[in-house]
Amino acid sequence: MTETTRRDEIAAGLARVEAEIAEACRAAGRDRKELTLIAVTKTYPASDVRLLAGLGVTDVGENRDQEASAKARECADLNLSWHFVGQLQTNKARSVVRYADVVHSVDRPRLAEALGREAAGAGRRVTCLVQIALDDDPDRGGVRPAGAAALAEAIAGTEGLVLGGVMAVAPLGADPGRAFAKLREIAQEVREAHPGADVISAGMSGDMSQAIANGATHLRVGTALLGRRKPFVR
Ligand SMILES: *Cc1c(COP(=O)(O)O)cnc(C)c1O
Repeated sequence: MTETTRRDEIAAGLARVEAEIAEACRAAGRDRKELTLIAVTKTYPASDVRLLAGLGVTDVGENRDQEASAKARECADLNLSWHFVGQLQTNKARSVVRYADVVHSVDRPRLAEALGREAAGAGRRVTCLVQIALDDDPDRGGVRPAGAAALAEAIAGTEGLVLGGVMAVAPLGADPGRAFAKLREIAQEVREAHPGADVISAGMSGDMSQAIANGATHLRVGTALLGRRKPFVR
């Protein structure tokens, strides 16, 4: 496919996503400016990141370090914020802090420790979100709601890290609205202890509206912008 065609395709996806966001904001009585759209570019090439940037997208998300670090390097000339949204092993912390501005998937104290150590060592400050598990599926990551406050406290007290707020993925097969309402309650508790930690990262291609209705500040959208991903083998 030529770049022009791909640009048109992505522009159309972006227009559809923006229309859905606008409608959900209207329904919820919210301002579009309260929301950051993160284009999740995993499995798509750096050339797509470049096209997105050309269309005004400022934030991109990735979920695997190897792919993300290469893409961030290729796009170093673009003024983008990089979000790491995938499950993260502590031994990847050193690499991730070099390009990630925000890590959405901090779900255990040891990971916070590793990220803090590497960020401080690299002279970086990395914003971290507490990923909350809203179901019982350990494969999807996240700390239990009961552990959120303690993990937030640990991040806030770690040199090199800034506590940004919370993140969650809606459970499969459940009502995303109810899940995001729960997330909003947890976010509120975290914010009471840490007034600056006002990020609620929630909402993907299939549940943006429910996330917006429940106070999301950051949407992580892949498929609706870029098309269906090919399955890949890790
Ligand atoms: C892939 C991914 C997304 C984007 O999902 P889409 O359904 O393609 O919009 C959002 N959040 C996380 C954590 C992801 O891994």
